Amino acid sequence: MRKENRSKKLFSRAQKYLVGGVNSPVRSFKGVGKEFPLFISKAKGSKIYDADGNQYIDYVCSWGASILGSAHPSVVKAVREAATKGLSYGAATDLESDLAERIQKSIPSIELMRLVSSGTEATMSATRVARAFTKKNKIVKFDGCYHGHSDGFLVRGGSGLATFSIADSAGVPSSIAADTLVARFNDLDSVSNLMEQNRSQVACVIVEPVAGNMGVVPPEEGFLEGLRRLCAENEILLIFDEVITGFRVARGGAQSLYNIGPDLTCLGKVIGGGMNIASYGGRKEIMELVSPLGPVYQAGTLSGNPIAVAAGIATLDALTKSAYSKLESNSKKLGSGIAKSTDRTGVNVKIQRVGSMIGLFFCPNQDPKEFAIRNYDDIMKRCSKEDYAKFFNNMSDAGIYLPPSAFETIFVSTAHSNEDISKTIDASRLAFEQMGKGN
Ligand SMILES: *Cc1c(COP(=O)(O)O)cnc(C)c1O
Repeated sequence: MRKENRSKKLFSRAQKYLVGGVNSPVRSFKGVGKEFPLFISKAKGSKIYDADGNQYIDYVCSWGASILGSAHPSVVKAVREAATKGLSYGAATDLESDLAERIQKSIPSIELMRLVSSGTEATMSATRVARAFTKKNKIVKFDGCYHGHSDGFLVRGGSGLATFSIADSAGVPSSIAADTLVARFNDLDSVSNLMEQNRSQVACVIVEPVAGNMGVVPPEEGFLEGLRRLCAENEILLIFDEVITGFRVARGGAQSLYNIGPDLTCLGKVIGGGMNIASYGGRKEIMELVSPLGPVYQAGTLSGNPIAVAAGIATLDALTKSAYSKLESNSKKLGSGIAKSTDRTGVNVKIQRVGSMIGLFFCPNQDPKEFAIRNYDDIMKRCSKEDYAKFFNNMSDAGIYLPPSAFETIFVSTAHSNEDISKTIDASRLAFEQMGKGN
């Protein structure tokens, strides 16, 4: 049996000082029915270790940021070297252009950009620029897509995609929530209806081109094209939130995979390789509205921090063509291996994968071959969080660390070996067998 005394103890200590003992709610493991979370002591390559000395194969990868696995030698070297030259200057460096140039070459729709420190900042700022450019106030987002925690994004549609949006969080003024309209992912009619009902008021449509915060939900054929067309017809900016998908599903992000050019793009996670970097950018004429060139204010003490930028550059440089092919083949093997290991266990799991993003949906008493999870409504209708929690705990006992909440993405890194993948598939078979027996 796995030891967990120390994690338990550390959690009681943390609760004395930190709200709920954590600095981000999902880390509490409440989503998988645990009374205390794992406390992490270190991570290296594909492995993560908790305070009790247990080793796990890590599929959280810092929520997708650690695409090379943890403590990749070239990234650590870059960070060490940068640190000796000072931790932060709050002034311009040539290093920032090195990172920006790499981003621009890989994602040409980003003609001009800003580096910021978190995905939340990137989406918040992109929205501000979109509003300034279009001189309109409302934004359209999709139910089940996450864009960080700024006020305007903590909103989901009421039932039936009502025009009246209500906030998902206390403390969000209703006046702000009212400007966020919520459409259904993979449903163009829901978007055009909102545009119709709010004629000449919508500044932007923001979307995760592959949704990664409700499990993994790929865009259906024509969905992103349709958004592109609807936005162009109505003088609305299209923002791709590629905080997860950028440099993940392809070097050029989802926009290169599906060949759609958004007006603005938000990046985060992978571009910092585990350090605090995010970015927003896009068409030059839009981005030129940002201060000091234009009237849109946006700033940051630690923006373009030299250590984070160094980590980002080293990460992007390690993401070679062969790194992406290894990611693809390992992810394919993992996805199909887990799917196959449900055979004859009586457990029904729908697996949806785009590159190294894998979503597992536990859909009791439904044949996963007969449907797709297309949006958040499908999840609510078909999926069981409780079954995911059982699977999570079984896997955790077997030394596999999955996201501690249902409907998150399982991330494969370039550090995962064939052996890691095979071990994970074997563990999943045992977990499904246990679950099939009602444990
Ligand atoms: C993680 C995430 C964000 C927020 O990024 P933070 O760095 O956590 O603020 C925004 N959008 C998407 C799609 C994300 O997955």
